Amino acid sequence: MADIMKEVMSHIPPGKVSEANFEASNIVLYTKDREFFLDNSGMIKRIVDDIKKRVELRPDPSITMDMEKAEAQIRKLIPEEAGIDHVIFDPQRSRVIIEADKPGLAIGKQGSILRDIRSKTLWVPHIMRKPAIRSKIIENIRAVLYEHSDYRRRFLDKVGHRIYDGWKREKREEWVRLTYLGGARQVGRSSLLLQTPESRILLDCGINVADESAPYPYLEVPEFNIQELDAVILSHSHIDHSGFIPYLYKFGYRGPVYCTPPTRDVSALLALDYVKIQRGDNKDPIYSTDDIKEMVKHTITLDYDEVADVTPDVRITLYNAGHILGSAMVHMHVGNGLHNVLYGADMKYGKTMLLDPAVTRFPRLETLTLEATYGGKDNVLPPRHADVPVFIDGIVWDITAIHTAYPEYLNTNVRKLIFHKDQNPFLNPIFKRVGSSKERKQIIEETGPCVIIATSGMLVGGPSVEYLKHLAGNSKNSLVFVNYLGEGSLGRRIQRGEKEFNMGSTARPDMMAVNLEVHTVQGFTGHSGRNQLMNFVKNCEPRPKKIIINHGENSRCLDLASSIHKTFRIETNAPRNLETIRLK
Ligand SMILES: [Zn+2]
Repeated sequence: MADIMKEVMSHIPPGKVSEANFEASNIVLYTKDREFFLDNSGMIKRIVDDIKKRVELRPDPSITMDMEKAEAQIRKLIPEEAGIDHVIFDPQRSRVIIEADKPGLAIGKQGSILRDIRSKTLWVPHIMRKPAIRSKIIENIRAVLYEHSDYRRRFLDKVGHRIYDGWKREKREEWVRLTYLGGARQVGRSSLLLQTPESRILLDCGINVADESAPYPYLEVPEFNIQELDAVILSHSHIDHSGFIPYLYKFGYRGPVYCTPPTRDVSALLALDYVKIQRGDNKDPIYSTDDIKEMVKHTITLDYDEVADVTPDVRITLYNAGHILGSAMVHMHVGNGLHNVLYGADMKYGKTMLLDPAVTRFPRLETLTLEATYGGKDNVLPPRHADVPVFIDGIVWDITAIHTAYPEYLNTNVRKLIFHKDQNPFLNPIFKRVGSSKERKQIIEETGPCVIIATSGMLVGGPSVEYLKHLAGNSKNSLVFVNYLGEGSLGRRIQRGEKEFNMGSTARPDMMAVNLEVHTVQGFTGHSGRNQLMNFVKNCEPRPKKIIINHGENSRCLDLASSIHKTFRIETNAPRNLETIRLK
């Protein structure tokens, strides 16, 4: 038994606990003693205060109420106005997930209804908000987790043992190293390997969809060994950060991926879409939907500001990055105070219509990695401005649905609109979903002035390319780019002014003339502009001692690194791919 478990058990009278497990870094105790489960006079709370880890007491599965009866009881206890939808039991872990339109009403005053459910059914209730727009992907992900609940229980226990069973590598001296496997002096295929005396951790593992000659991170470097990998930490769902993770599972990785819940859902969706697009282009997908399912099965979600041990010598906290829904900066506390590094990933230090700006306060901080997507001197972003129908096509709709499932990740204004005024902006009637190629054809041929929002934003596949083929020839149409365009992508080439493209093959050419107006609106990006990046560094508390610039084109990385050094007198570095930086 791990020492920490012995420590916990030493505080509990013998015979009270029937089983003790890890759920990753949390400790879960099961009891067959009904009275002890309902009232342990603060014993569990004192243990938590003492060992500074999460400890949860649950009823042993053998004493929980029969599921059918329990569901009837739950529906009786919760008032109708709460709008109960699905009630899903996790019998392995004695938990019941209750979906409600109004979670507050289901929880009751100071949790009174939850307490009633616990005492009457001996199940541990978790209330979840029912999304305003049903999301197929969220339902599928929940189904996968439910179906593999037995496996999950064993997997989470194994992860806990890795964290708490002690060191398995020989500790020689104190050091921390960061190796760039991708995303250095480039945008695309972000992936960093963090090595400490006891840990091998991958920070992101993305695909550069704009560059067919070098799309994947350098996993073949001698430092990287998939057998030794302890954990993957995913900052956010964009494909240039998440897209290659299913490939790790294809090659046998069975450890955890840590990220926020929205990041898990959107990453799975984007990976499935990536496979679909590859198939559509008559290519062999690099991984299958089964590999994506493995990724989902092994994902451990953390909310912002939740502290979690991931190995014996690395403790992480995810902080809001303000970039997209669920996006995080990853704070890593290494070796009990040896070094603190913040992987800044993609972040926006400025409030947007949807999200709060990136966090700048951290408990401790020595090294910061900072993006330079818009880090050049001339990358000053314009302010944003404000009835035609808006057609939403491709996975944009699914992603909109996922936003409605996680309003707590949106900024205060939007949250207020959703929670208190029933004015959910995502349900505005100007948005119209495009569901079939027939509807697509109708929009192209019959609809007058309108806005079409479609993926992919770089024009590297998906419905956006289909629309382009039909709309490109007419000079009355406009194409508006609002996102970063990867070097080599069709989007970037059109933006640069190329007018003719072969959309077919060499053998069967299919020429497309680009006559439509091309605009670029910089202000919509989820990245920080130059001034925001400089302000982020200025307001970072504590001020880091070293800043590593990544995720930007060559000149922008160098420009930002030199400006930060001159302005703040902080050591900066703009490494290239395959370079390793010793942090300690
Ligand atoms: Zn991103």
